[in-house]
Amino acid sequence: MRRALDEARAAAADGEIPVGAVVLDGSGTVIGTGRNDRERSADPTGHAEIVAMRAAARARGEWRLSGCTLVVTLEPCTMCAGASVQARVDRVVYGAVDPKAGAVGSLWDVVRDRRLNHRPEVLAGVLAAECGALLSEFFVHRRVR
Ligand SMILES: [Zn+2]
Repeated sequence: MRRALDEARAAAADGEIPVGAVVLDGSGTVIGTGRNDRERSADPTGHAEIVAMRAAARARGEWRLSGCTLVVTLEPCTMCAGASVQARVDRVVYGAVDPKAGAVGSLWDVVRDRRLNHRPEVLAGVLAAECGALLSEFFVHRRVR
């Protein structure tokens, strides 16, 4: 989560909403990192989790991320939760909850929907205060400007 927080800080420095993510393989090695880059990339799918999972899949040379853990500073949205299921990650770990758009327990619970045949394990609230503070600071700062 510390690595994901570094990514989130880098996103903020670029004027992007500070969300960061990393993908770890089964041995705990980081195989993909990502930060929110929607503004820079002008890509509606440019969320930290998508960027990190793309990098991890590229590193592995396959779309399946079985055995991997996705770590992200903010609860994934429906798109990213769906992508984590599609990528077959074993585990989703997140920091701050997102009561407005979260799809891993808040508004929806996409990854634990029993109708899907792959359901990643979830660990929520890791360094939640720190992850959330980064977001609130960013938005306060943006409103002031
Ligand atoms: Zn997302």
